[in-house]
Amino acid sequence: MADPADVVALAKALIDCESVTPARGAVFDVLEAALLPLGFAVDRFIVGEAPDGPVENLLAVRHGDGPHVAFAGHVDVVPAGAGWTGDPFTAEVRGDLLYGRGAVDMKGAVAAFVAACVDLPARGTVSLIVTGDEEGPAVFGTRALIDRMADRALRPDLCLVGEPTSAHRLGDTIKIGRRGSVNIWIDVPGRQGHVAYPHLADNPCPRLVAALAAIDALVLDEGTDWFQPSNIEITDIMVGNPATNVIPAAARARISIRFNDLHTGDGLAGRIAAIVAAHAPDATCRAVVSGEAFLTEPGALSTLLAGAIRDELGVEAELSTTGGTSDARFLSRLCPTVEFGLLNATMHKLDEAVAIDDLRALTRVYRRFLASALS
Ligand SMILES: [Zn+2]
Repeated sequence: MADPADVVALAKALIDCESVTPARGAVFDVLEAALLPLGFAVDRFIVGEAPDGPVENLLAVRHGDGPHVAFAGHVDVVPAGAGWTGDPFTAEVRGDLLYGRGAVDMKGAVAAFVAACVDLPARGTVSLIVTGDEEGPAVFGTRALIDRMADRALRPDLCLVGEPTSAHRLGDTIKIGRRGSVNIWIDVPGRQGHVAYPHLADNPCPRLVAALAAIDALVLDEGTDWFQPSNIEITDIMVGNPATNVIPAAARARISIRFNDLHTGDGLAGRIAAIVAAHAPDATCRAVVSGEAFLTEPGALSTLLAGAIRDELGVEAELSTTGGTSDARFLSRLCPTVEFGLLNATMHKLDEAVAIDDLRALTRVYRRFLASALS
């Protein structure tokens, strides 16, 4: 069993358990074995069915008087892909780096948080909210954990998500929000026919093109104090007509919108549907909101974390809302939530690796953050 005080040994033990989404079993055994001696009560549960499940989740709580600080993360990883120098699921130290899938995203940060709880003063409640599905559909992951917490009347005062947020050096970036994301499929029907007899057909392409031009011209906002402007991208246009002399029966397109906290996914879907209807009244639009935007206004939590980073690393962290969606979008509905973790340069890449020094330094930052948040 990995010594929970040894962050490198624990990170290695977690990496050694292959845990591509949806993760279950061995990787949670390792985490549970590390948490039990630290006084955590560990609640593991499996939810969901194929294809999005079953998913294993873990909720570990060490109760005490005072504030409740939660750490959230995941132990599932994205597939390794071919071309690694070594075995992606056998952790290996080469030089100053620890290699393996999940080293930075985010088994290294999970190990650092557990190690930070060793010898922590007994005051306050500390919980770990760890899912086996963050990288996948996230249907049975953090949302199921939040339901579990509600069932058990557990409500943290603060939440730190250990995603790899650092860009150039450890400590340079704290995420205080994320943009939301919605994808929309547009389907414009027409009537097939011979191009030489257009009066007997109905070409859907001009209507789709007009709708897309109007959508592309739309300015959603100019950005806010904390967010860049919301952005629409046309990601696919599908007609698939191989014949030069046939008017196609249908034309389709897909758009993707990343939006700030001035919008909601449903609101944007409604606006797009109205534009499409103006140009192609018989078209259909199907929207899938993969996450709403969230923002934890700069305040006590970001100040506390930035202070811990400054004291341990001598780095001034920048507060940012860039990047894709994360499970912080769910957790931020419970309590103020920010994200801070390792360097993200190699996440989801071949030869994912973390600097050993960064693992130890992140442990110190997490420990200092915990000590001040719980005091
Ligand atoms: Zn991650």
